[in-house]
Amino acid sequence: MRWTSMKWMRKTALAALLSALLILAGCAPREASRTLFAMDTAVTMTAYGDAAEAGLAAAGDVLTDLEARLSVTRADSEIARLNERGAETLSDTALAVLSRALSAAEATGGAFDPTVYPMVRAWGFFTKEYRVPDAGELDSLRAAGTFRDVRAEGGTVTLAPGMAVDLGGIAKGYAADAMADALGRAGVTSAILSLGGNVRALGEKPDGSAWRVGIRDPNKPDANAAVARIRDCSVVTSGSYQRFFTGEDGTVYHHILDPETGYPVQNELLSVTVFSSDGALADAYATALFVMGKDGALAFWREQSGFEVLLMTKNGEMIATEGLRDVLGDVSPDYTLVWAS
Ligand code: AMP
Ligand code: MG
Repeated sequence: MRWTSMKWMRKTALAALLSALLILAGCAPREASRTLFAMDTAVTMTAYGDAAEAGLAAAGDVLTDLEARLSVTRADSEIARLNERGAETLSDTALAVLSRALSAAEATGGAFDPTVYPMVRAWGFFTKEYRVPDAGELDSLRAAGTFRDVRAEGGTVTLAPGMAVDLGGIAKGYAADAMADALGRAGVTSAILSLGGNVRALGEKPDGSAWRVGIRDPNKPDANAAVARIRDCSVVTSGSYQRFFTGEDGTVYHHILDPETGYPVQNELLSVTVFSSDGALADAYATALFVMGKDGALAFWREQSGFEVLLMTKNGEMIATEGLRDVLGDVSPDYTLVWAS
């Protein structure tokens, strides 16, 4: 073959490849991703379609705004000021999150309680200067009041002396919903958001299939115990493995406290995952159901509606509620799957 014709063939092949790529680019929807650090965790957002970039910018603004209002560690946040002064007039936004937290506290009989904060602080979970407080100290912190002692009149919230609130058990789920709303307003119909143990799916994947969300194996960092296929849904996991420290005597203390005692919850559970179209509810209930333990969590699910539950236990059971039959797959052989009804 002569050199010129080879050159021509190469040129033609290159042109064909380029046009194939252009066609593909035309068919595949635009994808945009962004990662930021907020609410003490890495937040990743991926959106599809022409509005993807604008949607992510709007969602990022919503997250930044919520964090600035709700953070307990930023001295100038609305919640930090409320904790500092004992009374504060809150914005409608902060008030909305607090009122969702108080409703969740009411619904769960106080298993979720945003006023555990003085006790969380005593364990050093915010400063990472960990220590083991004694029962007397925890009792006196608890005596200051519970969620029932939070007064809200108009926009002004008042706490009893010694009380403080922390919306950390619900804020990420609330934020995920608000971010999904912002994406929707920008015209995005397909997106996936991940905030620590909170995943929020908007719509479905651009190819029309369900999003696949890994459920972490509490015993194996970086491995999944199962995969959930979801559309338009939040999946929120609370687990003892997410934040903990080891005391001098080797005891492991984790960050989910029993509001009645102030001690890290000790029961048969390793993690609780809640599925719901309501991300704030899923977040608060994941924390609450961890506190309730296996039987309490399943009883609560039976008497309520609007969510499904996946429990992972220390003896290797993965207990899933019936509504997850078409959702759950790829279950690790390390677990025995048990259906609850
Ligand atoms: P999550 O990661 O959503 O399970 O929330 C746990 C965080 O919420 C902890 O790091 C504490 O700041 C706070 N917290 C701990 N125990 C409780 C509880 N029983 N109710 C509400 N918030 C809690
Ligand atoms: Mg939570």
